[in-house]
Amino acid sequence: MNKNSSNTMALAPNTSNKRETVCIFGTGDFGRALGHKMIQSGYPVVYGSRSTQISNLIPKDAEVLGHAEAAQKAAIIIIAIQRQHYNFLIPLAEVLRGKVLVDISNNLKLNQYPESNAEHLAQLLPGSKVVKAFNTVSAWALQSGTLDASRQVFVCGDDVEAKQMVMNIVRALGLTPLDKGSLLAAQEIENYPLQLFPMWKFPIFLSLGLTAFFFLYCVALDIIYTYIYENNDFSFFIAITIPNRVCPVMALILLALVYLPGIFAAIIQLYRGTKYRRFPDWLDKWMLCRKQLGLIALAFASLHVVFTLVTPMRAFASWRTGKGIISQASFVLNNKTEPLDHTNAWLSDSYLALGILGFFLFVLLGITSLPSVSNNVNWREFRFVQSKLGYLALILCTAHTLVYGGKWFLSPSAYKWYLPNIYMLSLIVPCAVLVVKFVLILPCVDKPLTQIRQGWERNPKYSK
Ligand code: NAP
Repeated sequence: MNKNSSNTMALAPNTSNKRETVCIFGTGDFGRALGHKMIQSGYPVVYGSRSTQISNLIPKDAEVLGHAEAAQKAAIIIIAIQRQHYNFLIPLAEVLRGKVLVDISNNLKLNQYPESNAEHLAQLLPGSKVVKAFNTVSAWALQSGTLDASRQVFVCGDDVEAKQMVMNIVRALGLTPLDKGSLLAAQEIENYPLQLFPMWKFPIFLSLGLTAFFFLYCVALDIIYTYIYENNDFSFFIAITIPNRVCPVMALILLALVYLPGIFAAIIQLYRGTKYRRFPDWLDKWMLCRKQLGLIALAFASLHVVFTLVTPMRAFASWRTGKGIISQASFVLNNKTEPLDHTNAWLSDSYLALGILGFFLFVLLGITSLPSVSNNVNWREFRFVQSKLGYLALILCTAHTLVYGGKWFLSPSAYKWYLPNIYMLSLIVPCAVLVVKFVLILPCVDKPLTQIRQGWERNPKYSK
């Protein structure tokens, strides 16, 4: 073959690029949106509908036929119909034999039926190859093109070839297929769109409960106590002072709660002498929402920073500064000088420095938990930041709170109604986490724990 002829071949239209016709049953919202997207991607689309009348809503260039007639024109049929109407497909079993049926349906409730809709469809039409796909993509997102949040399409099915054909369509539409395995995975995939921030539920409820508790605790000690025993009305503390006490407390406790399940896991593994037994459910769930706990902690820490930065703008702060100036002036008038309390100066500067460094690391942890960042670091780097730097952040924030307390821990006036101040309460969990972690990294404990994590078992019967 000469050079020229090979060039002519390369320039000739590649007929194999022609897309295969796809049939869509149902001209509802999703059927129309998907059909529109498919036509844009070069697929000839034929609709199977109860009414063959063409309406304005149906994408032009698409054909509308009766179900049986439309099914004969394609190897892949997308069933854009609610599950409760699937029985109408039974009389079409012969036409649909050997065809790939794509189940895109969703339910109204989690685990609404004993079997998934896709499995139900496969039971109704055993001669067809059922594939589950597209159910997590919304018609609106398909139509408007705003697919950023839902670019992933979960695909599952028992026939590998059929699944591959559907995954090719997904790719051609500019979406990303994610193979979830056999049709057994369909139930899980059908539950995805019904979940409302599943990993955030526990952290949010916990944070709301703790915030309410600490807020009321502060109201009792800082407002009600002062009103009863000192006859001072500090009710305005509700706006900034109390939130600025609650936020750092919440940030510190939640940060400690990010590391506490890891401590429990290590203790359980040491006790069992194996890593091959499942953790209790509560611990598994807790481990899974550590990122969310950490992000809420970061939000509280950021609020604490903002509340602290606005302090000079507050009338209460100006009034207190004024009082300080008057007291200094009275010293000067009496020919006395008030020397600088170096201990206090050290305490306040160290407390601020520890807070700034702790917050810096806190932000770093938050940034590395973003998927775009975590995808670009390897597992070791991620662990270094989240574990080593995370513990350092916890140490700095705990030290920040300890130094803030300063000499007040032993002062009786810090215990109104014999109750400790909330910053003292906030130290319980972080100090416990740090003390136990310190014990866990002692060589005599760390060595067996590392061995267990590498697969060693004290008593191999546990692995059965
Ligand atoms: P829809 O607007 O109600 O459309 C459903 C279509 O099913 C109708 O337009 C009709 O098409 C057909 N149909 C209705 N009753 C029927 C019956 N008794 N027998 C045969 N066909 C019947 O619903 P949709 O929003 O498009 O949703 C369709 C499927 O996609 C559902 O299973 C849904 O869970 C799933 N889904 C929807 C979305 C979404 O954003 N809407 C997202 C993901 C998944 P004809 O009039 O042409 O026959």
